[in-house]
Amino acid sequence: MADQAANSTDGRRRLPSVDRLLATEALATAGAEHGRSQAVDAARASLTAARERVAAGDPAPALDDLVADAIVRLRAAGRGTLHPVINATGVIIHTNLGRAPLSRAARQAMEAVAAGYSNLEYDLAAGERGSRYLHAEALLCKLTGAEAALVVNNNAGAVLLALAALAHGREVVISRGQLVEIGGGFRIPDVLRQSGARLVEVGTTNRTHLRDFQRAIGPETALLLRVHTSNFRQIGFVTEVALADMVALAHGAGLPVVDDLGSGTLLDTARYGLAGEPTVQMSVAAGADLVTFSGDKLLGGPQAGLIVGRAAWVAKLREHPLTRALRVDKSTLAALQATLLHYLRGEAEVAVPVWRMLSATVEALDARATALAAQLCARGVPATVVDAASTVGGGSLPGETLPTRAVALTISSPDALAAALRGGQPPVVGRIVEDNLLLDVRTVQPDEDQMLMEAVVMAARITAGD
Ligand SMILES: *Cc1c(COP(=O)(O)O)cnc(C)c1O
Repeated sequence: MADQAANSTDGRRRLPSVDRLLATEALATAGAEHGRSQAVDAARASLTAARERVAAGDPAPALDDLVADAIVRLRAAGRGTLHPVINATGVIIHTNLGRAPLSRAARQAMEAVAAGYSNLEYDLAAGERGSRYLHAEALLCKLTGAEAALVVNNNAGAVLLALAALAHGREVVISRGQLVEIGGGFRIPDVLRQSGARLVEVGTTNRTHLRDFQRAIGPETALLLRVHTSNFRQIGFVTEVALADMVALAHGAGLPVVDDLGSGTLLDTARYGLAGEPTVQMSVAAGADLVTFSGDKLLGGPQAGLIVGRAAWVAKLREHPLTRALRVDKSTLAALQATLLHYLRGEAEVAVPVWRMLSATVEALDARATALAAQLCARGVPATVVDAASTVGGGSLPGETLPTRAVALTISSPDALAAALRGGQPPVVGRIVEDNLLLDVRTVQPDEDQMLMEAVVMAARITAGD
């Protein structure tokens, strides 16, 4: 013990200084590219790590090894922390992986307004100040049948704004069956509280009737709220009140209905072998005064909170100070406009990646998976093609799956391979099912297939230990 302690003190003493590392040609060159302060941090981090290893009994590393380690750290820091990832999980709207990939037109529209100036808040015809909220409004109205529309930062913000603007200090009536937590800690009762509204729960967890709402309406009532239960589903002895019935009741009492649709689709999911998700058009047609939904779930656009509905209520929201705090930026509006135009042209299924993935046929997926597996086998990585199930994700259509074909990597240590894939460039995220690492090609963009193949070959090599 005493010997070992003496050795490690010795080893630490023998480690070079930060300046010694920085003076080497290799680190000086890398430092010139990434910045001197970054190089200093990397050298320090390398020495700290080495000191810990030496304290644990390892011999002191050579100068070259320390420099190489510092350069790896420097390059990693220079890359930042947010990177593209290949999604091979089969979860189409994967919140952890950035939700909806954007269409080519949406990406180009973002780039165009980002690179220069735009008429974001400028009325070109009149030559005077305009409104950023006009850009998506006409398109949203045309697509949903609503009178007016407003776009904010995300749907959580849209719900918060609607409640703050219409119900601050008053009561909001909602069914107990809809007091949900969406994920990421977004709980409807908490949002209600934050808006300054008071929650009035009616009905029971599994059954709420129109008469429950009727009894709860009083002089303090500001609105009736309906929330899509998104990520969970109740089966069995369940009753919810139809939106049209809520609307008739509310309007009879002079109150508005706010409908938080969550995902908010413009297309009918039932056409793709899934359960029917209520469309935004259906909510508008049923008479909801405000309908809120996400831009980056089933719509397949940028992160945004979309609000459509009656002009008078939308105007109240627009005047509220929170609208400024929840403001969307120009690149979001550009991408949203381009995404909505796909729907207007009737080309969403082929142009919007979320819908392309949703509508991909098993035959097409099989062809890609088979080609990928064959290439992997030719490169010495054992791979087969198996039946699997993709999911929609993003709190849409819980329990619903789409049959898919996945590449199964039958390797003895799937966890190690999965870790190597996540650590690769680009990182790949797959799914482990019964000791096989599955790569579901449904959520891999077709132009990523080759990159995915190379990434798997590389990760398999690392895992095999050569
Ligand atoms: C996802 C979801 C939200 C939150 O939407 P974001 O765009 O993620 O802010 C709110 N309500 C429901 C019902 C949802 O499904």
